[in-house]
Amino acid sequence: MRYISTRGQTAPHSFSDAVAVGLAPDGGLFLPEHLPDLSGYLASWERLDYAELCVEFLAHFATEIPRATLSDIVRRSYTRFESTAIAPLVQLDARTYVLELFHGPTLAFKDFALQLLGNLYEHQCRARQETINVLGATSGDTGAAAIHGLLGKPGTAIFILYPDGRVSPLQERQMTCTGADNVFALAIDGTFDAAQTALKEIFGDQDFRTRHRLSAVNSINLARVLAQCVYYLHAWLRLPQEVRGEAEFVVPTGNFGNVFAGWLLARMGVPLAGFKVATNQNDILHRFFTTGEYRVGEVQPSLAPSMDIQVASNFERLLYYQLGGDASRLRSAMQQFKATGACTFEGFAGGAFTSCRTSDAEIPGIMQRVHHEFGYIVDPHTACAFKALNPSRVSVVLATAHPAKFPETIKAAIGVAPTHPSLEALKARPIVKYLVPADAAAIRAFIEQRAI
Ligand SMILES: *Cc1c(COP(=O)(O)O)cnc(C)c1O
Repeated sequence: MRYISTRGQTAPHSFSDAVAVGLAPDGGLFLPEHLPDLSGYLASWERLDYAELCVEFLAHFATEIPRATLSDIVRRSYTRFESTAIAPLVQLDARTYVLELFHGPTLAFKDFALQLLGNLYEHQCRARQETINVLGATSGDTGAAAIHGLLGKPGTAIFILYPDGRVSPLQERQMTCTGADNVFALAIDGTFDAAQTALKEIFGDQDFRTRHRLSAVNSINLARVLAQCVYYLHAWLRLPQEVRGEAEFVVPTGNFGNVFAGWLLARMGVPLAGFKVATNQNDILHRFFTTGEYRVGEVQPSLAPSMDIQVASNFERLLYYQLGGDASRLRSAMQQFKATGACTFEGFAGGAFTSCRTSDAEIPGIMQRVHHEFGYIVDPHTACAFKALNPSRVSVVLATAHPAKFPETIKAAIGVAPTHPSLEALKARPIVKYLVPADAAAIRAFIEQRAI
């Protein structure tokens, strides 16, 4: 299998090369050259456990990695999950299921992709006998999950920039209390945007980038999308046969990576019936799915901070398919969006997608209602998905973070603050962070000293 860019001006890449590069050189996002038809495999996949299913699925995509190696990479990626089901499907009532994606090492769904990505990087280092320095900026969950994907892995170092004082105390502890000597959490004196600007400048320095074999960790890596397809497949196989055909997957959404993975799987012949895109008050995607216009707004910080985005970076992948795989139309739509901050798709029909938007004012009430109705506690991101479940069909709500990551918001809503032993244990560990000005030269100097 080869991978092409949504913008059509990059030569096809192998799986490993597309994963290593991240963003395609023409500025586009990688997608498989063609999608496999998985419908004929589903009956034989019914009884597989999570890791077995993941190997079967990825074998269609990581075609140049020998099967035994792939199997080893996948198995190791899902050993640090605390539930044996990895992604348990919990039934709340006859029409409502929750797919719990928060049992990984950092208690958020990003672990599914970043544990795997960490092992893929390690494999690549070994195969090429090279070291790699991974660099990223985060406003919280991605940085923590990326760090825990590479923690202690030989041949790798990871540098994560975050705005000092502007991530939650628990998120900061997840990044800074690891005790691993290949992890560098850089607390930037500035905003997340300032950190990202510095990062862009560093990646723009080709010489520096090549010399240190820098790789970017961000939300658009092909391996992240593919890893995320697997939990939809696993959940669908665990639904009772009679509801599989009607279940709508309801997905808390920011950069559109999570819900896009489900939609892509449906294009591979797994009959997932529909998707609801659940945004917080940063609602560019909700506005798109209701009007056909994609228009950038101002980010308003919210109670569900991992969904506070202005532009959904994975959206380009959906557009590529919506425009019939026509890369030149895609390029002009992206150009128009870049120049004017908006683009409209005449006659856009949502297809398999519906959407909803939840403001901060509504989140505590939803938490109370879910707690009261089902005796179940949801984090603020998952709460957005519970806003208005469709009573006429079965819903599978994706729970993207463990409630213990947001104790204050939940305590204010339902009076109890959930806890988790792994987070409690972090509180006893020393914080190791590096205070750096939000300045590309200073960050570069830091990396120069510590890079592997
Ligand atoms: C990242 C994140 C999201 C948003 O996921 P996207 O793939 O960006 O749509 C939702 N909830 C939580 C808890 C997250 O960490």
